[in-house]
Amino acid sequence: MMTSTNIDQEILSAVQSATRGPGALHEPMLGDAERRHANACIESGWISYAGSYVKQFEDTLAEITGAQHVIAVTSGTAALHVCLMMADIKHGDEVLVPAFTFVASANAIAHAGAQPHFVDIDDETLCVGPARLSTYLSEICERKGGETINRETGRKITALIVVHTFGQAADMAALMKVCEDFDITLIEDAAESLGTSIQGQHTGTFSQTAALSFNGNKIITTGGGGAVMTDDPEIAAHIRHLTTTAKQPHKWEFIHDAVGYNYRMPAINAAIGVAQLEQFDDFLARKRALAVAYENVFDSVSGVAFIHEREGTTANYWLNAITLETADASVRDVILSTLNDAGYGCRPSWRPLHLLSPFADSPRDRLPVTEDLYLRIINLPSGIKVCP
Ligand SMILES: *Cc1c(COP(=O)(O)O)cnc(C)c1O
Repeated sequence: MMTSTNIDQEILSAVQSATRGPGALHEPMLGDAERRHANACIESGWISYAGSYVKQFEDTLAEITGAQHVIAVTSGTAALHVCLMMADIKHGDEVLVPAFTFVASANAIAHAGAQPHFVDIDDETLCVGPARLSTYLSEICERKGGETINRETGRKITALIVVHTFGQAADMAALMKVCEDFDITLIEDAAESLGTSIQGQHTGTFSQTAALSFNGNKIITTGGGGAVMTDDPEIAAHIRHLTTTAKQPHKWEFIHDAVGYNYRMPAINAAIGVAQLEQFDDFLARKRALAVAYENVFDSVSGVAFIHEREGTTANYWLNAITLETADASVRDVILSTLNDAGYGCRPSWRPLHLLSPFADSPRDRLPVTEDLYLRIINLPSGIKVCP
């Protein structure tokens, strides 16, 4: 009879039998295709943003996601910054964001001159919970001339960033309704969710703008990079202008009509992205096979639940995760030691952002689900290299 005293060993053997073997939490898969396109890019002489690779990368992303416009940028954080600028954020405005996310989601809000305002997730989606959000906003806000004002701080609440956590889709229909009710601009942080859809519609296409990331640990990588998705042609044109130093087209003169940004993705990075996208369907299939294997093995480990895609959604299973029944950091950490010592890269979820010093004073709702899940979630090795 198994007892909870050897739960770390049980989890280790489950992970051993589901995966190909030891491996990092999420290592990129790079090979001949990347070498070939990177070489072609160098041969062309256009490794900065002229040349054909950036456009080819953007067009393929648009095809995959169904977004009307995709603009490649230097990082996911830059992409979020751009999304926030397009939402017309004024200095000192508040932007709602889950406390349960990677720090970049909140950093981008600070870069835009706004104040992150932390909200809770729900334990079914791991994403912002629409029911609680609606109740909370009714409690703390007053409506003034079509704007939503935080009564306590006197600041305008301008936008909500929804994160599709670990590649699991948020409940977009309900969140769109809440944002409509409160005149809040919706932005999707789809950094982790390329390949994830809701009833066939790709994440990142439910909001005015959305951000993708191609950091080395994401489902596809360009080394570092990101992209903004939007269906609005005017916003797309504005983004292209702002992210390329706001330079007016001219044969030789340098005329800039705004304080612009140097956020364009270099072609050498896009070349690697093009190579990765050639393999994207295969990556998705292999990640799904790994998720199925994890689900099967964890079925018979008591006290542990595998996080499965919600009905009506298709997850990319970017990062596989289990939740422990017991909320106890010391139990969690024994499991993390055992698995990491055996070469299986496992991590707890991010420390909730309101517990980090730069955001300790940020306004926030109660965060019971965030604080509980922080003690109970373990992310499992999920890179292509460990897939069966
Ligand atoms: C990775 C990530 C980002 C930031 O992307 P970078 O490319 O690293 O700047 C933003 N949000 C979430 C949820 C992420 O996982």
